Amino acid sequence: MKYFTYHGIKYIITYDNKKLIISKFENNKVISLNEAEKIKIHNLLHRYKYIYNSAYLNEIIASNPELNKYNNVDILLNWIESIIPGIYRENFYKKLKTLKIDLNLDAINMPEIPNERYKEIGATGNYNAKDNTIIFNREAVKVVYQIAHITKNPEDYFTRDLIHTLVHELLHMASANYDHDKNISLTGFDKYPSENIAEKNRGLTEGFTELLASIAIPSNHEIASGYFIEECLILQLIALLGGDELLKICYFGNKGTRPLEAKLEQIDGDQAKSFALFRDIEIYYCIENDNEPQNLFAHIQSSLLDYLDEVLEHFPNPEDLLNAYEPAIITPEKIKLMDKNPDNYIDLEESVAKFYHIKDKYMKKYRT
Ligand SMILES: [Zn+2]
Repeated sequence: MKYFTYHGIKYIITYDNKKLIISKFENNKVISLNEAEKIKIHNLLHRYKYIYNSAYLNEIIASNPELNKYNNVDILLNWIESIIPGIYRENFYKKLKTLKIDLNLDAINMPEIPNERYKEIGATGNYNAKDNTIIFNREAVKVVYQIAHITKNPEDYFTRDLIHTLVHELLHMASANYDHDKNISLTGFDKYPSENIAEKNRGLTEGFTELLASIAIPSNHEIASGYFIEECLILQLIALLGGDELLKICYFGNKGTRPLEAKLEQIDGDQAKSFALFRDIEIYYCIENDNEPQNLFAHIQSSLLDYLDEVLEHFPNPEDLLNAYEPAIITPEKIKLMDKNPDNYIDLEESVAKFYHIKDKYMKKYRT
């Protein structure tokens, strides 16, 4: 039996059909690695990977003329490669080899679009998992161009907006798997089509995609982003979970939300609660643009705060967690900045007060 020890755990090395298999040796038993352990070992065995992976990525970029139509795409792709957990990068490389991109930049020459039509023009970017294409909406490109020209620095605004959208769509590409036999598309946490409510996680998928894209290229209009509220909910989750590793595993590995639910369950032992939380987030995503009265959002924020309260109970530095959490709280003021009516967010103020009540409780507790 060949083994090595890493962080105190004994790992067994075997080769099967030219494939490396690493297992764990515990209590005199050989045990398969779980997802998190696989990533840990993958990272260990690729610890000197950076130069190699980038060379491989650059080779792919050079081989697909579609990727060379636009300047500096390689910088974006290198960044995306770096945030994908190692074991899920193969999908990203595979898609890149055949990806087709059309940003439709010549649309800036089309006739002016009147202001009153802006609202009916859909999103700028679109990734089609079936054809593996990123195509920008011509009218939306023109609208971005027009809006850019009433800002102080039109060129900067226009470029930043389109690159931000391009990163968002490239992230959809990197986290998508299309099953051509069954006609089923897995994108991030979402499965389409599916009648199972546990597999419909479009809101969470868009929120995480937008959050990652905003880390790469800060958006021109953070709060006006269509997914701002979902981004804030995800930031609350990241604070609770102590990082975005598990979100990345579920998102790039198309694992749905079950591993996230299980993690929250560990906090309070309530399976029904964490199940309901993710379904509520999806229902909220489907109704949010209608701007009609609902107390659903306050319920979601309040549920997350229940977990925060529990986590803080055993947290070594409550102040750090509270400081990470606070900017992600959705308040009536933020709803107003988004051009939505805060009166339709029933009980929202109560959920904000709940946060400050929790903050007070733990700050006092640790101050004395
Ligand atoms: Zn999207």
